[in-house]
Amino acid sequence: MQRHIIRGALVLADACTPASHQDILVGDGVIVDLLPPGTPVGDAQTIDASAMLVHPGLVNAHMHGHTPMTKGMADRWSLEILLASGMRIYAGVSDQDRHTNVLIGAAELVLKGCTTVYDMCLQVPVPTTAGMDAVARAYADMGLRAVIAPMIADKSFFQATVGLLDALPDEARIALSDAGVRADQPLAAMQCILADWRWSHRRITPALAPTIPLHCSRELLLGCKALQDAFGVTLQSHVQESKGQLLSALQTLGETQTAYLARLGLLGPQFVAAHGVWLDDDDMRLLGAAGASVSHNPGSNATLGSGLANARAMLAAGMNLAIGTDGANCADSLNMYEAMRAALRASHVRTPDINQWLSAQEVFHAATVGGAQACAIEGIGRLARGYRADIVFLDLRHPNWIPVNDVVTQLVQTEDGNAVDSVMVEGVWVVRRRELVRVNLQTLKDTAVGTQQRLRAAGDKYAKLFEQFMPVVRCFCPAMAAQPHRLNRYGSVLQGETR
Ligand SMILES: [Zn+2]
Repeated sequence: MQRHIIRGALVLADACTPASHQDILVGDGVIVDLLPPGTPVGDAQTIDASAMLVHPGLVNAHMHGHTPMTKGMADRWSLEILLASGMRIYAGVSDQDRHTNVLIGAAELVLKGCTTVYDMCLQVPVPTTAGMDAVARAYADMGLRAVIAPMIADKSFFQATVGLLDALPDEARIALSDAGVRADQPLAAMQCILADWRWSHRRITPALAPTIPLHCSRELLLGCKALQDAFGVTLQSHVQESKGQLLSALQTLGETQTAYLARLGLLGPQFVAAHGVWLDDDDMRLLGAAGASVSHNPGSNATLGSGLANARAMLAAGMNLAIGTDGANCADSLNMYEAMRAALRASHVRTPDINQWLSAQEVFHAATVGGAQACAIEGIGRLARGYRADIVFLDLRHPNWIPVNDVVTQLVQTEDGNAVDSVMVEGVWVVRRRELVRVNLQTLKDTAVGTQQRLRAAGDKYAKLFEQFMPVVRCFCPAMAAQPHRLNRYGSVLQGETR
């Protein structure tokens, strides 16, 4: 057994334990013990970490690996504009392109202290084993731990948004009236993918992602639940992310998406609601009682104008709180330090009552242990005996840490990823002295430039259709969201509402 002893570091083992100087003995990718500084351990290679703060690798509970090529692409995109843009910005993607895309995202994640990611990737019209292999191979190449859930649906955004199709010009309405997928097709594809999974479940885990409940028929949702029961995997879905989704659900289902999912039996400890900005108290009670998780993505919610989620109420209802960045084109960076800080600030701007604010400790717990629970991966999220050696090394000589005050507060309120010196996953370096160990960024950049040109040309094929429907989406969806409703998660008061 190959053993390493990490000596001299200031160790932040978890959110609840004050940081202290300890040595960490690692063997076969597992933390064998945490020891008083200088304890003799016999045969073990020494890693000098005397100028370092080490903390457990951050867990990103909601990301989209198909988005890194599209970061910084457009200004003032709402969720609905982004969803409507999908056919153009994700057109013509090959499995090799999927690998490139994920590798770019994985590079940013590990360089910014993340060691585990829950990736809701996109493969249309239905996911394939080869496509999933391309995604899995990218994470394996980087050395990042990942849960991979290809998004599936049998209704389009245009079908799922009440009244939108009717508002489109005839040619666009006809072109967009059919998603072109039957429920049995993605279900059959997922059955094959789950049954034939050839990657280590501990490192690269498959999962299910009926993308947005409104985009899925009852048959598809029930089929996902059956697959979840058969294969014991997690299931994540975008739940009540925007006000438009909430209002569309109330009109078409007569209830919220959460109430609908509860009635279909989908809620449980292996269920992850992404966003949940527009959950009401009853929704949160249902999710909390089921032991479900929420992936709170405040950076994305702010960028897309989706609103301010009430994370304090989610915790009070008993939900497991995890934190995610969301995709690179709606958070525009895959930086979990920024996501933690956004979570802290989002709770602060909701109310002057400081007792309702999230604490730095709660936020760091959510970004580590909470994320581990959402991913259903045991043995990550803490630095403790028997846990996987997923460890981030921060350089205490960086200005972010001169001087060191309250470590957890400083991690959440000050650190931005710039002090990340090295990162190991299961005891193996993936970042060493600020450089990726396993992937060459210049080669990745050269590949990405060619990919970008080709994908832009592929997207241009939809330019005419895009020009027909996008002006309508830009008017229709904000007008829909401006309708009065008893729940308001925006930073402003709408007509006829009180807060
Ligand atoms: Zn998302």
